Amino acid sequence: MIIASNFKTNHTRASTKDFLETLKAVGTTCEVRVFPPATALDCFALPAHIKVGVQNFYPAQSGSFTGEIGAEQVEEFEIESVLIGHSERRHLLKESTELVRQKYAFARAKDWEIIYCIGEPKEVREAGFDAVRAYVEEQLVGIDVRYERLIVAYEPVWAIGTGLSASLEQIQETHQYIKTRLNAPLLYGGSVNVENIGAIVGLEECDGVLVGSASWKKEAFVRMLEAVKTAH
Ligand code: PEP
Repeated sequence: MIIASNFKTNHTRASTKDFLETLKAVGTTCEVRVFPPATALDCFALPAHIKVGVQNFYPAQSGSFTGEIGAEQVEEFEIESVLIGHSERRHLLKESTELVRQKYAFARAKDWEIIYCIGEPKEVREAGFDAVRAYVEEQLVGIDVRYERLIVAYEPVWAIGTGLSASLEQIQETHQYIKTRLNAPLLYGGSVNVENIGAIVGLEECDGVLVGSASWKKEAFVRMLEAVKTAH
C-alpha cells in the first residue's frame, strides 16, 4: 500500500523536518511518500519505506528557466520521486499536455519514480462514464504506461480539495477501467481523510492514496497510516 502526502504550498523547512521525524517513529508496512514544497527539500535520513519527492520540476538538467528547479537541484537531495500531471498544475498553473508529456519522458529517462496524476473535471463526470473514460484515455496518450517505476493516481478534479470524495463505486469503476490499460500500482486521490481512507484502500483495485489537505497535520497523517493498518 502506498500512502502519499502532497503538501502543496504548505509547511516550512522546519515543519517538514518535524513532520518527517514524527513519521520515522511510526510502525507501518506502507510505502510512504511525502511531497514538500521545494524550499523544504533536504537530504533527510529516512528509513527505506519513506521517501521525499518533488511536486514539480522543469524537464532540464539545469539552465535558464526562471523560477523552476531542474534535475540538478532535485538530484542534489538524492530525490528520485516526482509528481507529474497534478490537476492544480494542469488547471491552475496552466501546464500544457505537451509539457506534462515532456516531464514524463524526462523523468522516465532519469529512472525516477513517477506518480502520474490523471482525472476528469466535474462537467466530464456529469456527462457520464464514457466521457470519463475518454478523458482519462487522452491523459494516457504519449505516456509510457509500461514504465516500471510508474505509479498512477486517479484524482478526479472535482474531488480535490473540495471535501467531496468520489464515491467508492465511482472510484472502483474508474480504477477497474484504468487497470485494463496498465499494470502500474493505482492510487486514489481527492478528499481522502481519516474517516474514509480505510474503505478506499479496501477496494480491490486500489493500491494506495495520494492525500492533500487532510495529511498536512502530522497527527492526522499518522492516524491515516494507522487506519490503513487496521483496514488490512
Ligand atoms: C491532492 O493534492 O492530490 C489531493 C488529493 O488533495 P486533497 O486530498 O486535499 O483533495
